[in-house]
Amino acid sequence: MLVAQSSEDLLYNLHEIRPKDAVRSFRKSIIHDYPGKRCAYCGMPAHSWTLDHIIPKSKGGPTRRWNLLRCCARCNGNKSNTDLLPWYRPQMFWTEDRENTVFTWMRDNASMDAMLVLQEAILDGVLDQDALSDVVAATAPDHKADLYWEGYCSLNPSSPECLIYDC
Ligand SMILES: [Zn+2]
Repeated sequence: MLVAQSSEDLLYNLHEIRPKDAVRSFRKSIIHDYPGKRCAYCGMPAHSWTLDHIIPKSKGGPTRRWNLLRCCARCNGNKSNTDLLPWYRPQMFWTEDRENTVFTWMRDNASMDAMLVLQEAILDGVLDQDALSDVVAATAPDHKADLYWEGYCSLNPSSPECLIYDC
């Protein structure tokens, strides 16, 4: 079974052929696969889930599986673009177990030396940009999916299949 780092991976491997479906599958897979059945941060149940960028998007955190987790809308809105530990540790609901699960999730989904360096730095209160770049590069989507469909559409401009890429 493919573990997609991004919705683009699902398109490239033709698990999905519509970008919107790929995004939906990608989100669902994280909500389903993240350990436990409760909010990654506060540990409460919820009827609907959101995905949070562990390393905030505004600080270069990518939309990749390893940097996304399942949490409730309240935690997501509350954390906003704050760094993980400065936000999480002062919370009443913080537990070491749940914090460890976040780090384990990141390592399990991007298993490489650079991730260990990145996590050490986060624990020291620093965002190691070199380590982050390395992990981002190693988990980059394969843009061949886009090239394939663009090529297909330009070669077959009147083909009804063009519609599947919303072009
Ligand atoms: Zn929560």
